[in-house]
Amino acid sequence: MRVLIIGAGFAGAAAAYEFKRRFSADVTVIEQSRHAGGMLRTFQTKEGIPYEYGPRIVSVFRGSQDCLPWFRQFLDLQPRDVYQGTCLRPEYPAVPFPVDKPSLLKLPCGDQIAREWEALKGKPAVETNLKTYLESTIGPTLTSLAFAPFNLKFWGRRLEDIPADWGKLRRLERISDKGDYRLPSVAPHYYPKGGFNPLFDKLLNSASELRYGVSVQDISQTPGGGVTVRTDRDTLHADLVLSTAPIDKTLGLRFGELEWKGYRTEIEVIDKPKLGHAPDGVPFSWLYTPYADTQVCRTTDFGVIHHGNSYNQPSVLLKELPDDSVKMYPVWWEGEKFDRYLSEAAKIKGFLPIGRLGMYKYVTMDSTYGMVQRLCDDLSRYAESDHKGRLDVLKHVRGDWAN
Ligand SMILES: Cc1cc2nc3c(=O)[nH]c(=O)nc-3n(C[C@H](O)[C@H](O)[C@H](O)COP(=O)(O)OP(=O)(O)OC[C@H]3O[C@@H](n4cnc5c(N)ncnc54)[C@H](O)[C@@H]3O)c2cc1C
Repeated sequence: MRVLIIGAGFAGAAAAYEFKRRFSADVTVIEQSRHAGGMLRTFQTKEGIPYEYGPRIVSVFRGSQDCLPWFRQFLDLQPRDVYQGTCLRPEYPAVPFPVDKPSLLKLPCGDQIAREWEALKGKPAVETNLKTYLESTIGPTLTSLAFAPFNLKFWGRRLEDIPADWGKLRRLERISDKGDYRLPSVAPHYYPKGGFNPLFDKLLNSASELRYGVSVQDISQTPGGGVTVRTDRDTLHADLVLSTAPIDKTLGLRFGELEWKGYRTEIEVIDKPKLGHAPDGVPFSWLYTPYADTQVCRTTDFGVIHHGNSYNQPSVLLKELPDDSVKMYPVWWEGEKFDRYLSEAAKIKGFLPIGRLGMYKYVTMDSTYGMVQRLCDDLSRYAESDHKGRLDVLKHVRGDWAN
């Protein structure tokens, strides 16, 4: 089986490894940039200090625990405490996020928040939109401090314009009673010793051919079977094409461009934890700043992630400033347009979009691993199916919000 994989990010590299292992496929990988890794690349400052641009920890957020032994074949995973914090106003101290009652009650607005909770007791949630949902579950003060300005800053949307389902899906109403600061990340977290880059050398070792600096332009059905891929250099044919490139672009933007949200970064070298601590003394690995007084929406302390809780050596503090030209987070309001693209992809037998760009889905490493495994498991069903059956397989590979 000749398999062409577009993109040498984590989805493409993991698929190259698994297609070789499970099907003895003859795999060629094409990558538009000069190196592998995609989003999951460990960079270095000019002083040689490592940091990541987007992804930062291996964890089981939504996928299955199976991914941990799989990762351990390639990486030395070191456990880390990863707590997230939020500073609700510039003059307030940082508190854990999701917020917990004891920390909130100590804030200057704590009494007001407590009065609102008391008034809401026993009342049902109002699901007209995200604003009514949050105000009727966590109260108006917390809604306006933690969610309204952040949504405007990062998603460019008012809470009134977002459905309540979005909040329910992400369980935004969660407030822990007893200071369970590790919500929602109760799963253990890991940082690989030496960073993420060695993972790609090992996974891509299984490919017969690896071509860098080649960009795929479009994909079509080869008359008589198989898939044709036109790149900026030449035209290629394969039995199967797994594409981790943006699905809208590989299908010629025929239904228009899918919208993304993202951020650009600013870095600073620091040598001790800078973002405050949870009440149990663990420093925050990253901190949300929802208020409008700053453009920064989140700041990550890579020292805590790379070296542990009480590090004192040079490390990187990275600030994220919203920038929609960077494709990081797909948005819910493009769902219908994406469905049209997926149906179009299923018309080309042998064209399998995967990964975050191919499937227009926010996927962590564990859920990307799950996607690749589902694709391998479903491959014979896909081969025997008509358009509708292939579409069902692609939907199953994509998975739902929970995976
Ligand atoms: C901001 C952010 C933070 C994250 N944090 C975490 C985290 O802490 N933990 C976690 O588990 N996961 C995290 N993730 C998710 C993680 O990044 C993804 O699971 C994984 O890296 C996605 O890999 P991918 O191959 O699908 O996409 P990408 O990494 O984007 O790779 C796609 C590759 O395809 C190439 N490509 C694109 N178009 C073409 C083309 N036309 N021709 C040729 N090549 C092309 C690109 O150059 C790129 O190398 C985060 C993601 C983001 C965006």
